[in-house]
Amino acid sequence: MAGSRHDGVALVWDERVRGYDFGAGHPLAPVRVELALELIRRSGLLRGPHREAVPEPFDPDDLARVHHPAYLEAVRALSRQPTATVPPGSGLGYGDTPAFLGMHEAALAVAASTVEAARRVLDGRAVHAMNLAGGLHHAMPDRAAGFCVYNDLALAIDWLLRQGVERVAYIDIDVHHGDGVEVAFRDDPRVLTISLHESGRFLFPGTGDVDDIGGPGALGSAMNVPLLPGTTGDVWLGAFDAVVEPVVRAFAPDVLVTQLGCDSHASDPLAHLMLTLDDMAAIHARLHALAHEAAGGRWVATGGGGYRLVDVVPRAWTIAFAELSGGRLPPETPLDWQDLVRERTRSEPPVDFVDDPVEVADGIRRDALGAAEEAVERLRRTVLARHGAS
Ligand SMILES: [Zn+2]
Ligand SMILES: [Zn+2]
Repeated sequence: MAGSRHDGVALVWDERVRGYDFGAGHPLAPVRVELALELIRRSGLLRGPHREAVPEPFDPDDLARVHHPAYLEAVRALSRQPTATVPPGSGLGYGDTPAFLGMHEAALAVAASTVEAARRVLDGRAVHAMNLAGGLHHAMPDRAAGFCVYNDLALAIDWLLRQGVERVAYIDIDVHHGDGVEVAFRDDPRVLTISLHESGRFLFPGTGDVDDIGGPGALGSAMNVPLLPGTTGDVWLGAFDAVVEPVVRAFAPDVLVTQLGCDSHASDPLAHLMLTLDDMAAIHARLHALAHEAAGGRWVATGGGGYRLVDVVPRAWTIAFAELSGGRLPPETPLDWQDLVRERTRSEPPVDFVDDPVEVADGIRRDALGAAEEAVERLRRTVLARHGAS
């Protein structure tokens, strides 16, 4: 969709998010966000009305809108002293989401940035806004999970509702189920949460079954599209077109919030879907069209998962920001960005925005297509029917 439809897009950035760092060797290395930010900056996409925005502070007391007091207390204590005893069940011990010094402040800055993106979109200073460091969709009310401490997405959606927004649609394209956001709103009919992900039978967090459609008081407020390992972009997009588009149109949200994790890429080391950068560009374009057609253009986007730190994450989110802003990608990645990559990672940077086509065996493709079609049929009879969208 052309940028002429509207003007300013905000890229929210707070230096403190660099501190969201679980330490050497952890897959969620902050350099991934730094390299994405710098690729957007140096590709000339922050021109004219498109600019960076620094978030207003987020009141830490408002964390309790989503998270339980005992969990918040545990995060604060471990943030001051990461070697202190970890309360059982807080999810903050050794493992995926280990405590680190300054964890509370860094996670709060991530949340403040996603709330700022929502604020800018709601008050009209920006038509779309993006927080690259956001998308911590696994954080639960009472515990950390899957590299996520505070659920910036749930906090931003809650903030929107507190401003009087009546309906929010949330679409999560990360390869993992967007469980934390779904749990936060599974009993709230004002929030429609949608997640397309690799099936929980094969991947963390193990949830997101097709029949998981929301709490008893809000059936149809959650929609899950589990996909088989080996699913390619055409199958992914076919499922999106069949169920996501119609349900979001019928729901007619005031704001669209999207988590743009890029760990569905074929080369991602943590998961097994087979998408390319071109597929992701097609998804971003679908989301953009949907934001204008169903949500008055109001679109809040975040980053998310993605563990090919050099080859995929910076390019996927620069492609996303080009879509938000209607900007044109340069034919090649800027030379000063390539130098930065070598300096920061000692690896060779990608030189353009094109990647290799993927090869999938016929049997795997057939099974993946069959499973996606089965999920679509099921969702037509359950979620779409409830929204009058079948
Ligand atoms: Zn993920
Ligand atoms: Zn637009």
